[in-house]
Amino acid sequence: TEQGLRIDGKAAAAELLEQVKEDVQAVVKHGVLPTLAVILVGDDPASDVYVRNKVRAAENVGIRSLEYRLPASTSEAELLQRVKDLNADASVHGILVQMPVPKHISEAAVIQAIDPRKDVDGFHKENVGALSQGQDTLVPCTPAGCMLLLRKVLGQDGLRGLHAVVVGRSNIVGKPMAALLLQADCSVTVLHSRSKDASALCRQADIVIAAVGRPAIIGADWIKPGAVVIDVGINRISTLEGKTRLVGDVDYDAVAPIARAITPVPGGVGPMTIAGLMANTVKAARMQAGM
Ligand code: NDP
Repeated sequence: TEQGLRIDGKAAAAELLEQVKEDVQAVVKHGVLPTLAVILVGDDPASDVYVRNKVRAAENVGIRSLEYRLPASTSEAELLQRVKDLNADASVHGILVQMPVPKHISEAAVIQAIDPRKDVDGFHKENVGALSQGQDTLVPCTPAGCMLLLRKVLGQDGLRGLHAVVVGRSNIVGKPMAALLLQADCSVTVLHSRSKDASALCRQADIVIAAVGRPAIIGADWIKPGAVVIDVGINRISTLEGKTRLVGDVDYDAVAPIARAITPVPGGVGPMTIAGLMANTVKAARMQAGM
Protein backbone atom coordinates (compact mmCIF):
# COMPACT_ATOMS: atom_id res chain seq x y z
CA THR A 1 0.00 0.00 0.00
CA GLU A 2 3.02 2.24 0.47
CA GLN A 3 3.95 1.79 -3.19
CA GLY A 4 4.44 5.10 -4.96
CA LEU A 5 4.07 7.28 -1.87
CA ARG A 6 4.44 10.94 -2.83
CA ILE A 7 6.77 12.57 -0.32
CA ASP A 8 5.33 15.96 0.61
CA GLY A 9 8.32 18.27 0.90
CA LYS A 10 6.15 21.30 1.51
CA ALA A 11 4.55 19.71 4.57
CA ALA A 12 7.89 18.46 5.88
CA ALA A 13 9.41 21.92 5.39
CA ALA A 14 6.49 23.57 7.20
CA GLU A 15 7.05 21.19 10.10
CA LEU A 16 10.77 21.96 10.20
CA LEU A 17 10.07 25.71 10.06
CA GLU A 18 7.68 25.37 13.03
CA GLN A 19 10.51 23.74 14.96
CA VAL A 20 12.95 26.47 13.89
CA LYS A 21 10.47 29.13 15.00
CA GLU A 22 10.40 27.59 18.49
CA ASP A 23 14.20 27.39 18.54
CA VAL A 24 14.41 31.05 17.52
CA GLN A 25 12.09 32.02 20.37
CA ALA A 26 14.23 30.07 22.83
CA VAL A 27 17.38 31.84 21.63
CA VAL A 28 15.65 35.23 21.74
CA LYS A 29 14.73 34.56 25.39
CA HIS A 30 18.47 34.40 26.05
CA GLY A 31 18.87 37.85 24.54
CA VAL A 32 20.17 36.78 21.12
CA LEU A 33 18.31 37.69 17.91
CA PRO A 34 19.36 35.21 15.22
CA THR A 35 20.46 37.23 12.18
CA LEU A 36 21.14 36.18 8.61
CA ALA A 37 23.02 38.40 6.16
CA VAL A 38 22.32 37.69 2.49
CA ILE A 39 24.53 39.21 -0.19
CA LEU A 40 23.48 39.32 -3.83
CA VAL A 41 25.93 40.61 -6.44
CA GLY A 42 24.39 41.61 -9.77
CA ASP A 43 20.81 41.25 -10.91
CA ASP A 44 20.35 37.67 -12.10
CA PRO A 45 16.55 37.20 -11.98
CA ALA A 46 16.70 33.60 -10.65
CA SER A 47 19.08 34.65 -7.87
CA ASP A 48 16.80 37.57 -7.07
CA VAL A 49 13.90 35.16 -6.51
CA TYR A 50 16.05 32.87 -4.32
CA VAL A 51 17.19 35.79 -2.18
CA ARG A 52 13.66 37.13 -1.77
CA ASN A 53 12.41 33.66 -0.74
CA LYS A 54 15.19 33.32 1.81
CA VAL A 55 14.52 36.73 3.31
CA ARG A 56 10.79 36.03 3.49
CA ALA A 57 11.36 32.62 5.12
CA ALA A 58 13.60 34.28 7.70
CA GLU A 59 10.95 36.85 8.56
CA ASN A 60 8.35 34.10 8.96
CA VAL A 61 10.37 32.29 11.64
CA GLY A 62 11.52 35.42 13.47
CA ILE A 63 15.07 35.52 12.11
CA ARG A 64 16.34 39.03 11.39
CA SER A 65 17.64 39.34 7.86
CA LEU A 66 20.01 41.87 6.34
CA GLU A 67 19.98 42.17 2.58
CA TYR A 68 22.96 43.53 0.66
CA ARG A 69 22.39 44.09 -3.04
CA LEU A 70 25.63 44.99 -4.73
CA PRO A 71 26.04 46.02 -8.38
CA ALA A 72 27.47 43.52 -10.88
CA SER A 73 30.50 45.80 -11.16
CA THR A 74 31.48 45.10 -7.52
CA SER A 75 35.13 44.03 -7.34
CA GLU A 76 36.25 40.86 -5.57
CA ALA A 77 38.12 42.98 -3.02
CA GLU A 78 34.97 44.98 -2.25
CA LEU A 79 32.92 41.83 -1.79
CA LEU A 80 35.56 40.22 0.43
CA GLN A 81 35.67 43.39 2.53
CA ARG A 82 31.89 43.23 2.97
CA VAL A 83 32.19 39.61 4.12
CA LYS A 84 34.99 40.55 6.54
CA ASP A 85 32.85 43.32 8.04
CA LEU A 86 30.01 40.87 8.57
CA ASN A 87 32.43 38.32 10.07
CA ALA A 88 33.45 40.97 12.61
CA ASP A 89 29.86 41.96 13.43
CA ALA A 90 28.83 39.91 16.46
CA SER A 91 25.14 40.64 15.83
CA VAL A 92 25.33 38.66 12.55
CA HIS A 93 25.24 34.86 12.91
CA GLY A 94 24.85 33.65 9.33
CA ILE A 95 26.38 34.92 6.09
CA LEU A 96 25.23 33.76 2.69
CA VAL A 97 26.56 34.94 -0.65
CA GLN A 98 24.07 33.98 -3.34
CA MET A 99 25.78 32.02 -6.11
CA PRO A 100 26.65 32.41 -8.90
CA VAL A 101 28.74 35.55 -8.46
CA PRO A 102 29.89 37.51 -11.56
CA LYS A 103 32.73 35.86 -13.49
CA HIS A 104 35.41 38.33 -12.34
CA ILE A 105 34.93 37.17 -8.73
CA SER A 106 36.32 33.86 -7.45
CA GLU A 107 33.54 31.79 -5.89
CA ALA A 108 36.12 29.83 -3.87
CA ALA A 109 37.71 33.01 -2.50
CA VAL A 110 34.32 34.27 -1.34
CA ILE A 111 33.40 30.99 0.34
CA GLN A 112 36.75 30.76 2.14
CA ALA A 113 36.43 34.35 3.35
CA ILE A 114 33.30 33.56 5.37
CA ASP A 115 33.86 32.77 9.05
CA PRO A 116 33.18 28.98 9.15
CA ARG A 117 30.93 29.49 12.20
CA LYS A 118 28.76 31.83 10.10
CA ASP A 119 28.88 29.67 6.96
CA VAL A 120 25.20 28.70 6.88
CA ASP A 121 25.55 27.18 3.39
CA GLY A 122 28.14 24.75 4.77
CA PHE A 123 30.48 25.26 1.81
CA HIS A 124 33.62 26.41 3.69
CA LYS A 125 36.48 23.86 3.65
CA GLU A 126 36.46 23.69 7.42
CA ASN A 127 32.80 22.62 7.45
CA VAL A 128 33.32 20.27 4.50
CA GLY A 129 36.19 18.65 6.40
CA ALA A 130 34.17 18.41 9.61
CA LEU A 131 31.29 16.76 7.77
CA SER A 132 33.66 14.32 6.12
CA GLN A 133 35.03 13.41 9.58
CA GLY A 134 31.50 12.88 10.90
CA GLN A 135 31.52 15.86 13.28
CA ASP A 136 28.51 17.99 14.13
CA THR A 137 28.82 21.08 11.93
CA LEU A 138 26.97 23.40 9.54
CA VAL A 139 25.89 21.05 6.73
CA PRO A 140 24.81 22.11 3.20
CA CYS A 141 21.06 22.73 3.25
CA THR A 142 19.91 20.64 0.27
CA PRO A 143 21.50 17.33 1.30
CA ALA A 144 20.48 17.95 4.91
CA GLY A 145 16.90 18.38 3.70
CA CYS A 146 17.13 15.13 1.71
CA MET A 147 18.23 13.29 4.86
CA LEU A 148 15.21 14.60 6.78
CA LEU A 149 12.89 13.39 4.02
CA LEU A 150 14.58 9.96 3.95
CA ARG A 151 14.23 9.60 7.73
CA LYS A 152 10.56 10.55 7.46
CA VAL A 153 9.97 7.67 5.04
CA LEU A 154 12.36 5.08 6.48
CA GLY A 155 12.43 6.00 10.16
CA GLN A 156 15.25 7.46 12.24
CA ASP A 157 17.51 4.38 11.97
CA GLY A 158 15.90 2.96 8.86
CA LEU A 159 18.75 3.90 6.53
CA ARG A 160 21.26 1.59 8.24
CA GLY A 161 22.79 -0.94 5.88
CA LEU A 162 20.87 0.19 2.80
CA HIS A 163 22.58 0.77 -0.52
CA ALA A 164 22.28 4.43 -1.54
CA VAL A 165 23.20 5.66 -5.00
CA VAL A 166 23.88 9.37 -5.43
CA VAL A 167 23.78 10.51 -9.05
CA GLY A 168 25.94 13.65 -9.27
CA ARG A 169 29.13 14.68 -7.44
CA SER A 170 28.92 18.45 -7.06
CA ASN A 171 30.30 20.17 -3.99
CA ILE A 172 26.91 21.59 -3.08
CA VAL A 173 24.76 18.45 -3.43
CA GLY A 174 26.34 15.14 -4.51
CA LYS A 175 29.45 15.01 -2.32
CA PRO A 176 27.92 16.24 0.96
CA MET A 177 24.93 13.96 0.28
CA ALA A 178 27.26 10.96 0.02
CA ALA A 179 28.97 11.97 3.29
CA LEU A 180 25.66 12.22 5.15
CA LEU A 181 24.44 8.87 3.84
CA LEU A 182 27.72 7.25 4.88
CA GLN A 183 27.31 8.76 8.33
CA ALA A 184 23.83 7.20 8.44
CA ASP A 185 25.44 3.77 7.83
CA CYS A 186 24.39 3.41 4.20
CA SER A 187 26.63 1.74 1.65
CA VAL A 188 27.17 4.57 -0.80
CA THR A 189 27.82 4.63 -4.55
CA VAL A 190 28.40 7.98 -6.29
CA LEU A 191 27.72 8.18 -10.04
CA HIS A 192 28.71 10.98 -12.42
CA SER A 193 29.05 11.81 -16.10
CA ARG A 194 32.00 9.39 -16.54
CA SER A 195 30.33 6.43 -14.83
CA LYS A 196 30.05 3.28 -16.94
CA ASP A 197 26.70 1.52 -16.85
CA ALA A 198 25.16 4.15 -14.58
CA SER A 199 21.62 2.82 -14.96
CA ALA A 200 22.64 -0.75 -14.02
CA LEU A 201 24.47 0.50 -10.91
CA CYS A 202 21.57 2.72 -9.98
CA ARG A 203 19.15 -0.21 -10.33
CA GLN A 204 20.90 -1.84 -7.34
CA ALA A 205 19.98 1.03 -5.02
CA ASP A 206 17.53 0.96 -2.12
CA ILE A 207 17.81 4.75 -2.04
CA VAL A 208 18.37 6.95 -5.10
CA ILE A 209 19.35 10.62 -4.87
CA ALA A 210 19.20 12.35 -8.25
CA ALA A 211 21.28 15.55 -8.46
CA VAL A 212 22.26 15.83 -12.11
CA GLY A 213 20.46 18.79 -13.67
CA ARG A 214 19.09 16.93 -16.74
CA PRO A 215 15.31 16.71 -17.18
CA ALA A 216 13.91 13.23 -16.56
CA ILE A 217 17.27 11.51 -17.23
CA ILE A 218 16.43 8.84 -14.64
CA GLY A 219 13.74 6.57 -16.00
CA ALA A 220 12.05 3.43 -14.66
CA ASP A 221 14.94 1.29 -15.97
CA TRP A 222 17.25 2.98 -13.41
CA ILE A 223 15.08 2.07 -10.43
CA LYS A 224 14.73 -1.13 -8.42
CA PRO A 225 11.08 -1.74 -7.50
CA GLY A 226 10.53 -0.54 -3.92
CA ALA A 227 13.39 1.98 -3.91
CA VAL A 228 13.01 5.37 -2.23
CA VAL A 229 13.72 8.14 -4.76
CA ILE A 230 14.73 11.70 -3.87
CA ASP A 231 14.80 14.07 -6.84
CA VAL A 232 16.97 17.15 -6.25
CA GLY A 233 16.95 18.30 -9.87
CA ILE A 234 15.23 21.53 -10.87
CA ASN A 235 15.07 21.91 -14.65
CA ARG A 236 13.04 24.45 -16.57
CA ILE A 237 11.67 23.00 -19.81
CA SER A 238 9.43 24.42 -22.54
CA THR A 239 6.04 22.85 -23.03
CA LEU A 240 4.17 22.32 -26.29
CA GLU A 241 2.02 25.34 -25.47
CA GLY A 242 5.12 27.53 -25.55
CA LYS A 243 5.20 27.94 -21.77
CA THR A 244 7.86 26.70 -19.35
CA ARG A 245 7.58 24.42 -16.37
CA LEU A 246 9.84 22.84 -13.75
CA VAL A 247 10.72 19.16 -13.85
CA GLY A 248 13.17 17.05 -11.90
CA ASP A 249 15.95 14.69 -12.97
CA VAL A 250 13.58 11.74 -12.51
CA ASP A 251 10.81 10.77 -14.92
CA TYR A 252 8.19 11.03 -12.19
CA ASP A 253 5.27 9.41 -14.00
CA ALA A 254 7.34 6.39 -15.02
CA VAL A 255 9.12 5.92 -11.69
CA ALA A 256 6.35 6.69 -9.16
CA PRO A 257 4.43 3.43 -9.77
CA ILE A 258 7.47 1.26 -8.99
CA ALA A 259 9.09 3.33 -6.23
CA ARG A 260 8.25 2.86 -2.56
CA ALA A 261 8.27 6.64 -2.20
CA ILE A 262 9.33 9.57 -4.38
CA THR A 263 9.64 13.36 -4.11
CA PRO A 264 7.81 15.49 -6.69
CA VAL A 265 9.31 18.54 -8.45
CA PRO A 266 8.30 21.15 -7.47
CA GLY A 267 7.18 20.53 -3.88
CA GLY A 268 9.83 18.03 -2.83
CA VAL A 269 13.41 18.89 -1.97
CA GLY A 270 13.15 22.60 -2.88
CA PRO A 271 11.13 23.74 0.15
CA MET A 272 13.38 21.67 2.43
CA THR A 273 16.44 23.57 1.25
CA ILE A 274 15.15 26.92 2.47
CA ALA A 275 13.91 25.43 5.73
CA GLY A 276 17.37 23.90 6.19
CA LEU A 277 18.96 27.31 5.75
CA MET A 278 16.78 28.69 8.55
CA ALA A 279 17.71 25.72 10.75
CA ASN A 280 21.40 26.37 10.07
CA THR A 281 21.03 30.06 10.93
CA VAL A 282 19.51 29.39 14.34
CA LYS A 283 22.09 26.66 14.92
CA ALA A 284 24.87 29.11 14.08
CA ALA A 285 23.37 31.69 16.46
CA ARG A 286 23.15 29.10 19.22
CA MET A 287 26.76 27.97 18.72
CA GLN A 288 28.06 31.54 18.68
CA ALA A 289 26.14 32.33 21.85
CA GLY A 290 27.61 29.22 23.48
CA MET A 291 24.16 27.68 23.92
P1 NDP B 1 26.16 20.33 -11.10
O1 NDP B 1 25.98 20.68 -12.53
O2 NDP B 1 27.17 21.04 -10.29
O3 NDP B 1 26.49 18.76 -11.00
C1 NDP B 1 25.82 17.81 -11.77
C2 NDP B 1 26.43 16.43 -11.57
O4 NDP B 1 25.75 15.51 -12.40
C3 NDP B 1 27.91 16.37 -11.95
O5 NDP B 1 28.62 15.69 -10.93
C4 NDP B 1 27.91 15.60 -13.26
O6 NDP B 1 29.05 14.77 -13.45
C5 NDP B 1 26.70 14.71 -13.08
N1 NDP B 1 26.15 14.27 -14.38
C6 NDP B 1 25.95 15.00 -15.50
N2 NDP B 1 25.46 14.25 -16.48
C7 NDP B 1 25.34 13.00 -15.98
C8 NDP B 1 24.89 11.78 -16.52
N3 NDP B 1 24.45 11.69 -17.78
N4 NDP B 1 24.89 10.69 -15.71
C9 NDP B 1 25.33 10.77 -14.45
N5 NDP B 1 25.76 11.91 -13.88
C10 NDP B 1 25.77 13.01 -14.64
O7 NDP B 1 24.72 20.44 -10.46
P2 NDP B 1 24.27 20.63 -8.92
O8 NDP B 1 24.73 19.49 -8.10
O9 NDP B 1 24.54 22.00 -8.48
O10 NDP B 1 22.68 20.53 -9.10
C11 NDP B 1 22.06 19.37 -9.61
C12 NDP B 1 20.59 19.66 -9.84
O11 NDP B 1 19.98 19.96 -8.60
C13 NDP B 1 20.30 20.87 -10.73
O12 NDP B 1 19.11 20.60 -11.47
C14 NDP B 1 20.03 21.98 -9.75
O13 NDP B 1 19.18 22.98 -10.28
C15 NDP B 1 19.35 21.23 -8.65
N6 NDP B 1 19.48 21.83 -7.32
C16 NDP B 1 18.35 21.89 -6.56
C17 NDP B 1 18.38 22.40 -5.29
C18 NDP B 1 17.12 22.39 -4.49
O14 NDP B 1 16.96 23.19 -3.61
N7 NDP B 1 16.19 21.47 -4.74
C19 NDP B 1 19.61 22.96 -4.71
C20 NDP B 1 20.77 22.77 -5.56
C21 NDP B 1 20.67 22.24 -6.81
P3 NDP B 1 30.55 15.39 -13.61
O15 NDP B 1 30.99 15.74 -12.23
O16 NDP B 1 31.31 14.27 -14.18
O17 NDP B 1 30.43 16.58 -14.51
